[in-house]
Amino acid sequence: MDQLARALSGIVGPQHVITRAAELLVYENDGLPGYRLRPRFVVAPGNRAEAIAVVRALAAANAPFVARGAGTGLSAGSLADGIVMIGLHRMRQIYSIDPVGRTATVEPGVVNARLSKAAAPYGLHYAPDPSSQTACSIGGNVAENAGGPHCLKYGVTLNHVLHATVVLPDGELIELAAPRDDEIGYDLLGAFVGSEGCFGVAVDVTVRLTPNPARVCTMLADFPALDGAAKAVSAIIAAGIVPAALELVDAGTIAAVEASIYAAGYPTDVEACLLVEVDGPAAGLDDDTAAVQRICRENGARAVRTATDSSDRERLWQGRKKAFGAMGRVAPHLVVQDAVVPRTRLAPVLRRIGEIAERHRVRVCNVFHAGDGNLHPNIPCDGNDADEMARVHAACREIMEVCIGEGGTITGEHGVGLDKQPYMDMLFSPESLDAMCRLRDAFDPARRANPGKVVPVRYCREWNASPSARKAVGAAP
Ligand SMILES: Cc1cc2nc3c(=O)[nH]c(=O)nc-3n(C[C@H](O)[C@H](O)[C@H](O)COP(=O)(O)OP(=O)(O)OC[C@H]3O[C@@H](n4cnc5c(N)ncnc54)[C@H](O)[C@@H]3O)c2cc1C
Repeated sequence: MDQLARALSGIVGPQHVITRAAELLVYENDGLPGYRLRPRFVVAPGNRAEAIAVVRALAAANAPFVARGAGTGLSAGSLADGIVMIGLHRMRQIYSIDPVGRTATVEPGVVNARLSKAAAPYGLHYAPDPSSQTACSIGGNVAENAGGPHCLKYGVTLNHVLHATVVLPDGELIELAAPRDDEIGYDLLGAFVGSEGCFGVAVDVTVRLTPNPARVCTMLADFPALDGAAKAVSAIIAAGIVPAALELVDAGTIAAVEASIYAAGYPTDVEACLLVEVDGPAAGLDDDTAAVQRICRENGARAVRTATDSSDRERLWQGRKKAFGAMGRVAPHLVVQDAVVPRTRLAPVLRRIGEIAERHRVRVCNVFHAGDGNLHPNIPCDGNDADEMARVHAACREIMEVCIGEGGTITGEHGVGLDKQPYMDMLFSPESLDAMCRLRDAFDPARRANPGKVVPVRYCREWNASPSARKAVGAAP
């Protein structure tokens, strides 16, 4: 154990400082294959006081660090390149649930789905529901401004975070609160949400809880043509309906799901299915359901089936939420992409993605938050096959170019991390990137928190902190 590890074990206990190579293996990846970086060691505080003391000790030692929640991120954002990792997975306490004020205060390591389960007896739930919700942490959700199927109607993480206590990288403790309507001043909580671990460590978070809807209707529409499904998405929104969720699952994804233990009864002879959920008070819900069914049929749906009961509904959702896992059967690795396009451009963009895949001889499976225009073109591949991976990366870059060209952007919810850095120049001017660096400096002038992530290093000049980030953007060593 090095000297710093010994000092930190005095705070958290030696069993919570992980230094052995075999144990560090677990922390070398997040959910995205293709990046493997080993932390110097992992320190896992068990509560708020320990987490604050750990960050202060790292500040005293001038040591850079990376915070990590559950490690389900899909942009290589929580990887530590030879520096200290702060594992927040032990901080799983739900401090309080206020059913009257409809809020909950939690430690950052609380798993997303566990919070909704704890709120269920009060008829409440935590609305942002990433498909990884049975594993990902609230702290990670805050840092990534996570979305999820139901964020179309209910809003993303940013809309549900009311307060966070943050320990800044220099050890100072600050309280960030969502601005009330009459409040004056900058929305610093808004700046922190989505800052990808670069502004400090959230040690507790207060979130809004949402009443469970009185009624829910979940539909599965089968489309022989992918184009029709994409057009139906725009048409549903254009009709003034705001579904709770509007997800597209294409043929490649359906085949993987139906061959897996997550089989949901999706038809395997269509090009796409739309999973549409409407919810709310009973009054008007039948009208919305009928309108969705009509619009789907007008756009070529062969059939629209409605979930008969809650277990049928859960089964339909299981296919969607476990689709990434099901793709594990298709190839050893899965490159999950994340981009956004204007909803009205979904049909042409999906066509272009199909052409790109064909030209680069890669297989793309689309499963995504269609109502938000948030695409996830996923490429099953063999990460050990250099030729195939070169084609995968070339295809990914072209897909990003198409999305940007259509007025979209390079990430909807997975963040930039390391993976999207090479695309930042395609979207932002040097002046904009510099402004981002200056905002970061307000929180972390020494740039010790998650160094080398988000903004390409040649702008932030974190030359010494992260050699691999430097390589990722092709900068000189
Ligand atoms: C199968 C699958 C499905 C997914 N579906 C979705 C989806 O539908 N929507 C979506 O948005 N994402 C999705 N994701 C991506 C991922 O689950 C989210 O980005 C999630 O928010 C990450 O949470 P985590 O706890 O795993 O964070 P990690 O991966 O551990 O960390 C992510 C980032 O957060 C920072 N961080 C973590 N905790 C803190 C903290 N307390 N303070 C400051 N910074 C912190 C880290 O430094 C890192 O930059 C999916 C991932 C998988 C594997």
